[in-house]
Amino acid sequence: MMCSWCSTEEESLNHLLFNCLYSWKIWTFCYAWWDFSSAAQVNVKSHYEQHMGLNQKKELKEAWRVIWLTTIWTLWVWRNQKVFGKDQDSEEEAGELIKHRSFHWLKANLYPNLHQDLWKEDPRSAIKRHAEHETLNGEV
Ligand SMILES: [Zn+2]
Repeated sequence: MMCSWCSTEEESLNHLLFNCLYSWKIWTFCYAWWDFSSAAQVNVKSHYEQHMGLNQKKELKEAWRVIWLTTIWTLWVWRNQKVFGKDQDSEEEAGELIKHRSFHWLKANLYPNLHQDLWKEDPRSAIKRHAEHETLNGEV
């Protein structure tokens, strides 16, 4: 089966998630959000390793891992919209969904005081502010 986005290559998992021009645009959107640029990686393992290597700060690691998983999930849902003939979100919308989904996952599981607007604008500051909020509560 050919890739339903670009129609030029076989739809392997690695093509779909990492090598296709369309998924590449979503990753680029995601990295721009964090002020990173990234080279293309050809498979799951090398992509994950490179992704995790970008953000070395210990306090950001978990959020950064969640963003990788959220991006993979979002690409898969985005691909299924196309394959099953649904209206496909724009690239911009798919990118915003990564911010949205990662926010809700992190707020529910890790950072109960995470601020949504700040997260979408400046995720590092949002996590920093959460940590400050925690410290403040701990002292009361
Ligand atoms: Zn493709």
